[in-house]
Formats: sequence, structure tokens, C-alpha cells
Amino acid sequence: SAEKEVSPVTEDRRAKRSITPRSQDFNAWYLDVIANAELADYGPVRGTMVIRPYGYAIWEAIQDYLNVKFKETGHSNMYFPQFIPYSFIEKEASHVEGFSPELALVTIGGGKELEEKLVVRPTSETIVNHMFTQWIHSYRDLPLMVNQWANVTRWEMRTKPFIRTLEFLWQEGHTAHATLEEAEKEALQMIDVYTKFAYEEAAIPVIVGRKSKVETFAGASKTYTIEAMMGDRKALQAGTSHNLGQNFSHAFGTQFTDENGQRQHVWQTSWAISTRFVGGIIMTHGDDTGLLLPPKIAPIQVIIVPIWKKDDEKTGVIDAALSVKEVLKTAGIKVKIDDSDQRTPGWKYNFWEMKGIPLRIEIGPRDVSSGSVVISRRDVPGKQGKVFGISMEASVLVAYVKDKLDEIQSSLLDRATSFRDSNIVDVNSYDELKAAISEGKWARGPWSASDKDELRVKEETGATIRCFPFEQPEGQNKACLMTGNPAEEVAIFAKSY
Ligand code: AMP
Repeated sequence: SAEKEVSPVTEDRRAKRSITPRSQDFNAWYLDVIANAELADYGPVRGTMVIRPYGYAIWEAIQDYLNVKFKETGHSNMYFPQFIPYSFIEKEASHVEGFSPELALVTIGGGKELEEKLVVRPTSETIVNHMFTQWIHSYRDLPLMVNQWANVTRWEMRTKPFIRTLEFLWQEGHTAHATLEEAEKEALQMIDVYTKFAYEEAAIPVIVGRKSKVETFAGASKTYTIEAMMGDRKALQAGTSHNLGQNFSHAFGTQFTDENGQRQHVWQTSWAISTRFVGGIIMTHGDDTGLLLPPKIAPIQVIIVPIWKKDDEKTGVIDAALSVKEVLKTAGIKVKIDDSDQRTPGWKYNFWEMKGIPLRIEIGPRDVSSGSVVISRRDVPGKQGKVFGISMEASVLVAYVKDKLDEIQSSLLDRATSFRDSNIVDVNSYDELKAAISEGKWARGPWSASDKDELRVKEETGATIRCFPFEQPEGQNKACLMTGNPAEEVAIFAKSY
């Protein structure tokens, strides 16, 4: 039994040590968290990723929320094939220019050279338009609003699990409208759905705005984006919504007869969020202990750890743990009980903390006799996060746990928001911009300079325009930080993933 007293300590340390401290090496930390929390693994092909059950459960939480919102906003799910004739990709000039370096092509099928090579879809605007030309005839067929959940392939050179992989999962919305105004309204509506998701579910305070021309999607007239600040202060483009104008409808001849009998080209949008978002959640909230999940995204919100030393205590604590689990489950809380007798309680605390479970409930023999439990918050480390003596009485417990989950949810958002705001610097000259970027911060300043100037900033500082935020500072008479000419908007510059 002396040995049993010692082993949990060494085991506890080992569980903690396997994650590189975040401040020491952010990239190593990120990869350690993914490996230790069993979120994903590398696939055998460079840049591919196997999403493991716990990582996939986070993606499912994203899907569950968005899928409902897409339907509420009038979209239907459907499915397009993954193989696209190469000639389709060539039809829209800027689209092919943007995507050809990243294309995976199929040239052989069934052992024979194909007559026309096939593109493994990097995105589906081309095949969508090919089909839309067959489904859209008159104004009565509009708007046409669909979405698909699918995999896409882009032959990326620099890859990173979740953030940028060769093959990734996403949803892609595709819509066609009779007017530019309707398409614009739709593109804005969907970036708003993403923004609300980021703030309210993922507790990520994204900055929503419009991409510069240089950063606009290949084939779009306008790209709206949500930009998130990761724990290392790099920006992550976490979702995009494009107003495609008539670019694809002209290329594919997607037309309708309007109310006056005139033939018109449709106005289109497309919008997407990918498995990259899982990486965004990890890099926004995670800490040295590991993953930290916002309760609304967490596949497990509460972990119950029963504690016993002697065999005659075991039945009592397990029974109490099971009844607490039942109470919480009935109240709609995602709860799991870890009653394995192969691990010590200390090991289990570390393990589930590392997995990012927002709340832990401990139940020991003394708690059973007093009819109470001990609760710990994942986001408040050590003893401060621990509350003793919460009654096991169902209504008290449910109210307390729901309250704490809400508190954690909003506390994570508050923490990420103040981190973000303390790392954005207002700049009025290129020198100030350079200083801010070299300190690892985001720079926000008036901008009306040329595409060439924008590329020069990228070359000289490594930062790009993340967006022209929708939320603009008060006051006029702004002068472009680069040229001194009048500037209508401020732009945000940052290094990004
Ligand atoms: P895009 O079609 O380029 O506008 O990208 C749509 C969404 O997919 C954006 O939210 C991107 O952040 C995300 N995304 C783009 N490329 C990748 C990639 N290689 N891996 C994961 N997500 C990606």
C-alpha cells in the first residue's frame, strides 16, 4: 500500500509533463495537446490527418449548431460529387489562377488514362453552377439556397493539424439570387451566423470584416471574414462568406428569365467553415494543462470522479456518482463518470483536465455521508476553482452546475476578449505598424494604399491585411498610414496562420 501512495504522484507528474509549456513553444504545445487529448493523428500521406473520436465530437458540436442555423435561414442540405471535370475549373479565370497550384488531379481510372483529367474538389462553385444552369430557368426558381457537408482537397505546402490540411471537412453554402442586393444580404447574413457561432458557442471574440482585394477569394467580388486571435497572437481566418457577384454565372451561363421576360445572370454567394475551427478553439482557450473547452462546445461538460480507498466504500460512492450522473443527464447536461479502478483519482483529475472538461465533480465516502459533492472549475486552477459541499439534492445540484457552466462560458469569452483587445495597437504610420507587428501584436490603422503597398507590407513585416472591420472607429479625416492620403476605413494587419 506504500507503493500505492507513491505511484499516483509519479503518474500525475508524467501526465502533466507530456505537454510542452505554451509560453515555451506554442507550436510544440499545440501538437502535444492534439496528441495527448487524442484529438487527431497524422495520416500516412503528408499533410493529411486522422480525426479521432474526441476531435470529431468537437466538429460534431460545430455541425450540430450550424446545421440548425442554416436551415433556419432557408437552406437545404444536398450533395455534389467530389470529382469535377478539369475544364470546369478553367472556366472562371481568376478561380483557376487561384486554385491551380493547390489542385489534386485524377488522370487514371480503372487502370486507363482518362480522356479528361478530373479535379478532386477544392471547393464546388464550378460544379454547383453546372447544375444550377439545369435547375434555374425563371425568377420563380430563385433564390436557390443549398449547403453541403463534405470533404475538400487542397494541395497545401505548409500544413498543420486542423489549421491547414491537404484534405479537410467543411460545409459549403451555395446560393443564387435574382439581384445583387439579395446576394449581398445573404453573404452578410451568413458571416453573421458565423460571428454569432464564434462568440456565443465557441467563446471566440472574432473580428468580422471585409477582405482586401488582394486577400479576396479567387472568383469572388467580395469576401467577408471572421478573424480570430490565437494564444500566440497570430490571426486565424476562421470562416468566410463570399459575394460572388455574377463571376461564375457569366462563366457558366447560369441565367434566369426575369418578370419582364428578360434573360439575366444570377447573383451568387458561397460560404464555409472548416475543421480549422477546431484548431481555433484549441489555440484560443488551451493552456499549459492542455485543452480547455467552452461548455457549449464540450462533448463532455462534467466529469464525475468517484473516490474510494477501501472496497467497502466503493459501492457507496459509485451509487452516489451514478445517481448524480442521472440527475445531470436528465437536465440535459453532457456528463461522464470515470469509475475505472485501473487509475488513481489524481491521474483521472489530470487526464480530464488535459482533455478540457469544464467541470469536475468528486464524490468520496465522506461526501456520500454528508450528501454533498466537491466541484472544480477547469478554467480556475488549483484550490480557487474548487467548491466544497454542494448538496446532492437534484434541484440544487442542477441549478449550481448550469450556473457554473454559464459562468465558465462567459468567463472564457471575457478572457479571450481582453487578451485580444490588449494586443491590438492603433497605428498612424508605417513605422508604428512595423513596431506593433514586430512586438507580435495586431496593428489597426487607416488604409487606402495600393495593392502593391499591401504586398510590400507583407514582404517587409510578414503581416497581411486580415480585414477592414465592420466596426470602424468614430471620427473622420483619417489619413492612410502608408501614403497620408484620405482613408475611409481602418484595416487590421497581423501575422496569420
Ligand atoms: P475559402 O474557400 O478559401 O474561403 O476557405 C473556406 C474556409 O475553409 C475558411 O474558413 C478557411 O479558413 C478554411 N480553410 C481553407 N483552407 C483550409 C485548409 N487547407 N485546411 C483547413 N481549413 C481550410
